[in-house]
Amino acid sequence: MKLHEYQAKEIFRGAGVPVPDGVVASSPEEAAEAVRRVKGPPWVVKAQVHAGGRGQGGGVKVVGSPEEAVAATGKLLGAPLVTKQTGSRGVRVNQVLIEEGMEIDRELYLGMVIDRTSACPAMIFSPSGGMDIEAVAVEMPERIFEEGVDPATGWMPFQGRNLAYALDPLPEPAAVKGLMQVMQRVYEIFMAHDCSLVEINPLAITRDGKVVALDSKLTIDDNALFRQKNLLELDDPREKDPLELIAERHHLNYIRLDGNVGAMVNGAGLAMATMDVIKMAGAEPANFLDVGGGATEEMITRGFEIILSDDRVKAILINIFGGILRCDVLARGVVAAARKTGIGVPLIVRLEGTNVEEGRAILKASDLKFLVAHDLAEAAQLVSRNLS
Ligand code: GDP
Ligand code: MN
Repeated sequence: MKLHEYQAKEIFRGAGVPVPDGVVASSPEEAAEAVRRVKGPPWVVKAQVHAGGRGQGGGVKVVGSPEEAVAATGKLLGAPLVTKQTGSRGVRVNQVLIEEGMEIDRELYLGMVIDRTSACPAMIFSPSGGMDIEAVAVEMPERIFEEGVDPATGWMPFQGRNLAYALDPLPEPAAVKGLMQVMQRVYEIFMAHDCSLVEINPLAITRDGKVVALDSKLTIDDNALFRQKNLLELDDPREKDPLELIAERHHLNYIRLDGNVGAMVNGAGLAMATMDVIKMAGAEPANFLDVGGGATEEMITRGFEIILSDDRVKAILINIFGGILRCDVLARGVVAAARKTGIGVPLIVRLEGTNVEEGRAILKASDLKFLVAHDLAEAAQLVSRNLS
């Protein structure tokens, strides 16, 4: 579960990580009220969406007067915001954060994630913050520093020193101390809220030598939400793809992608392999959908409906290896969904495994038109042939 910047900053504030003063607004009127309450000029008006790259996409505006703040708010709320992470359609902006503007001297990067190799939290630090950290990692990997956390000791002060002393020139002692304090608190926030990501980019050193988190990104591990119930109310379903929201409600692992071949698969590994096959056939997957082992007929029906209601889908590939999920259950679900929605695009089916004969018989007995693939290679051929 992702939090908005303003929600994450609220948590930062409570944990003692310095952040700029700010107020959320969801209309130009609220923006006018916000600038009365927040120190400025300048103010910074920031689109609140679950996507990064807002700065480069025009979602962060530094303004010099209350009128400009109101106008910037109106503009951001009125049009979809397109950033590197949103796709070309962009996302709707429902709220902006209006903050006191800071005079920035240096922009650093600080983040904490789980290092999958050591299965422990790791602090990531870079003197090259502010811009695209992914680009820094590729082009200047020597400017990314990492400290793994030993769960037995927690975050240790010497680790903070290791990272802070990567800065050249070294900032004033007060800023070094401030930096180390932020690192300690980021670790505490990460642990206390079961985060999979805490990210501050930029972590600024201001002209007057203060360390301030200018941006904040916080993601909670969904599997820990049962013990983070107070965070549940911070969930903003408006930020989710509507089809992903339906899938979530039916416990389906569904991620919408940009391509045009819908895929219905059981098992995450097979789903990944199927996406590769679609790509190798010269097409692009429209989604990742793992219906899982324990899928019921109802879940299959819902999953297939979701694929059918995606207007970008120009062909559908069903690739099921029936193990725990029986092929007859799958076939019944597909037929039920097709009866409700109708299928206007080629349907390619590859079924193997438990009750496969029964599954095939159900599909055959229906008036569904589909193409049978006997293996993955043939499935790929059928996909590419039926797209053109
Ligand atoms: P992101 O692009 O979605 O990561 O949004 P950020 O919150 O990181 O903002 C993008 C950029 O806006 C930052 O890298 C800063 O350079 C700039 N910015 C953010 N807050 C302030 C501020 O208070 N004053 C000034 N001058 N620039 C700011
Ligand atoms: Mn940022």
